[in-house]
Amino acid sequence: MARLIIMGPPGSGKGTQAEHIARHFNIPAISTGDLFRAHVGKQTELGIEAGKYMDNGEFVPDSITISMLRERLAEPDANAGCLLDGYPRTVIQIGALDEMLAARREQLDAVIELTVADEELVDRMLRRAKEQGRSDDTETVIQRRLELYRDETRPVVTAYSQRGILLTVDGSGERESITAAAIAAVEKALAG
Ligand code: ADP
Repeated sequence: MARLIIMGPPGSGKGTQAEHIARHFNIPAISTGDLFRAHVGKQTELGIEAGKYMDNGEFVPDSITISMLRERLAEPDANAGCLLDGYPRTVIQIGALDEMLAARREQLDAVIELTVADEELVDRMLRRAKEQGRSDDTETVIQRRLELYRDETRPVVTAYSQRGILLTVDGSGERESITAAAIAAVEKALAG
């Protein structure tokens, strides 16, 4: 059983890596972005509210995000562990996760940070915009998402680094070799 987080700026490929890494460890990859997009697609009350923020590249408010994650973690498949993708993004969200895990007598094993240069991120996202048509992959919205990552989410990376559980992995290059590097780093951390 592993409790993992993957972090990285928008466009760093964390969603794709999360799927492969989670499969290796036999745990569900839980993406708050995907959960929000599913709500938006179904036009639930939560989705209508979240969509207003997502389309502008803004964070969905912590209270909404935290209660959505709490519900997801209560599903049975998360008893085997999980890889969180896109959560926590704010320092408030770290505290909420700590409480959720403490209530389950669990703790985080490792936090993977994918690093990619800013210019490459913008290129990748503009390419993805053409391929997948994600509504938040326009140039101004991309810039806003990168800015929020720097201002709000870097402190989250720093906090986990101070706890000594941060694993930094170079996120540029071949998909397979990045996956392999991340898995090797996590296995080493799990072996203690
Ligand atoms: P990316 O990191 O590539 O921008 P995600 O799919 O992880 O994309 O997230 C898409 C959007 O969903 C974010 O821009 C934000 O509006 C919302 N979102 C996802 N996770 C969170 C979170 N933990 N806190 C607040 N908003 C979130």
